Amino acid sequence: MPPADDLLSGLDPEQREVALALRGPVSVIAGAGTGKTRAITHRMAYGVATGVYKPTEVLAVTFTTKAANEMRVRLRDLGAAGVQARTFHSAALRQARFFWPHVYGGDFPEITQSKFPLVAEAMRRLGKRADTPLLRDLSSEIEWAKVSNIAPTAYAAAAGPARREVADLSAGDVANVLASYEEVKRERGRIDMEDILLVTAAILADDERIAARVRQQYRWFVVDEFQDVNPLQSTLLELWLGGRDDICVVGDPRQTIYSFAGASPQILASFGRRHEGAQRIELVRNYRSTPQIVAAANAVFARSNATEGVRLVSQQEPGDPVTYVGFPDELAEANAVANEIALLHRRGVSYREMAILYRINAQSEAFEEALGEHGIPYSMRGATGFFNRPEVRQAVTLLRGSARGETAGNLVDDVRAIFSAMGHTDEPPTAAGAVRDRWESLHAIVTMATDLAESNPGADMTALVADLDRRIDQAHAPAVDGVTLATLHSAKGLEWDAVFCVGMHEGMMPSIHADTPVLVEEERRLFYVGVTRARHDLMISWAAARKPGGRGNRQPTRFLDPLLPAGHQARQVSSQARQRKVAKCRVCNQVLAVADRKLGRCSTCPATYDEELFETLRTWRKEQATEQGKPAYVIFTDATLQAIAE
Ligand code: ATP
Ligand code: MG
Repeated sequence: MPPADDLLSGLDPEQREVALALRGPVSVIAGAGTGKTRAITHRMAYGVATGVYKPTEVLAVTFTTKAANEMRVRLRDLGAAGVQARTFHSAALRQARFFWPHVYGGDFPEITQSKFPLVAEAMRRLGKRADTPLLRDLSSEIEWAKVSNIAPTAYAAAAGPARREVADLSAGDVANVLASYEEVKRERGRIDMEDILLVTAAILADDERIAARVRQQYRWFVVDEFQDVNPLQSTLLELWLGGRDDICVVGDPRQTIYSFAGASPQILASFGRRHEGAQRIELVRNYRSTPQIVAAANAVFARSNATEGVRLVSQQEPGDPVTYVGFPDELAEANAVANEIALLHRRGVSYREMAILYRINAQSEAFEEALGEHGIPYSMRGATGFFNRPEVRQAVTLLRGSARGETAGNLVDDVRAIFSAMGHTDEPPTAAGAVRDRWESLHAIVTMATDLAESNPGADMTALVADLDRRIDQAHAPAVDGVTLATLHSAKGLEWDAVFCVGMHEGMMPSIHADTPVLVEEERRLFYVGVTRARHDLMISWAAARKPGGRGNRQPTRFLDPLLPAGHQARQVSSQARQRKVAKCRVCNQVLAVADRKLGRCSTCPATYDEELFETLRTWRKEQATEQGKPAYVIFTDATLQAIAE
């Protein structure tokens, strides 16, 4: 375990203040990348190192399972293994499962993965039909009402101006669906995701003995991403606390992106009122991103003061300019992004340090295909549950059968043997297609086996299967060494060296469904979350049309307005580019052939190009492509924008 003081040395004065505030209520309000997560992780480790905290008595609540996993690894590295880092759901589920038989008797009910079938049945009972978009809207209303502690009878009054209209249903109709949905769910012996929290809260509120037990187990609480806490989670948290005050929350009002689902940033704002005497600490230094990226992030709020927040100040050395790129169609966009990723990879950036972020999952397809064609491995977040994939289920079944207590050395080999039993190798496939996907998940199991073998040389197959089972239980999908494809929502709290925010056109960002100023502001915050994920490279792109040859009149997102000069249509930029199309060798002044530009060399003299010129060539290459009108690749860098503006 590192000496306690070492845990403070990597923190700035304000972060140190957070780490030293081990007792009592603390709220940290700070911008993206300012080290909130780092500060609370060090705080917990410091609490453990100084003997103030017993690790098992600390509960750290994070927003996603990935964030929880990362925090657990960080805590272990900092000598604080044993601290519970969980999402609200996983912490609640553990308690609900454990106490269910004592309180209600019988088995824990099955958790429904999707509300759709239950909502559809509820609608049928009310004599109404529902298509998929309507099922989605109704499911989201049900979720919102439940996490907002709003009963069906109170829905009509509460929904009012706060909610969008759901097709042609009146608020009263929706309230009836809510009530009927609960009935259907009860009859079928199911519970949904919100019920996990509701059941836990009910058990804690109604049974003093159980509440006392849980409160004895957890004495110290930390909550990350507190700006996105909803009233139900807040209720549960207060029940866990049971009037105590040893809680530290951190959040960024500018990153509230779940208010459509009931998150309530007021809970962060009013923390000091609920916990009197709370210490409030602010962080402003951004350690994550280059000044160029930070400037872009600050500019997102340049024309809006609807969301409170502070300007970020970068602590990093200047890096490359942020790139803003418009494409004629999505295919061109996806190909260009895949090209750029291949290029960055050749320059030493690992695939797992890159991410493609989009507004909705449906946007991923073109990018999956382009990555597949380039032979670039990737993993998707928030898509089909990893452990629900048929190949993963099959692998786990086979592994169970062969779990005979072999040694760690054999573990990886055994997993490989299972692969070939299923007709695969763990070599990446070269072509895109369904087999790609399966390879990825099987490869992930090999990675898990390797990790396990390395971290625990005594581990055997039984341990791997147990680990898989545990992960299935908690739905912790393993990380794959590939480019991350994720929605902006699921990227919160994470960071990558290179980030591509794609499909950033009006109608998608902000979403066409964001039809009120309040909803547009939430989209702005979502865009900000995307921009602030990047450490060094950030490209923001959009496509004028969906398909090649399609009508291309999409405009870049309005959130780029402060960043792009007025009248920033792609055509203007390409005409600028045309004037500078001839690239000459710096050494012999010969005009460079396209192929040589790509290779970064001159065919006439022995000159090869340094990094700086390589960058210039990269731009030329893109401009050349525009010239040929093929995968038109129009590039705006901060420098070209400046040139246009002048
Ligand atoms: P987000 O708002 O996106 O959740 P955050 O405020 O939680 O961001 P972190 O993820 O904790 O920020 O930190 C961002 C990056 O900055 C991380 O790579 C972290 O290691 C680094 N960092 C934070 N504080 C420091 C520091 N004092 N010195 C050096 N690096 C730091
Ligand atoms: Mg964070």
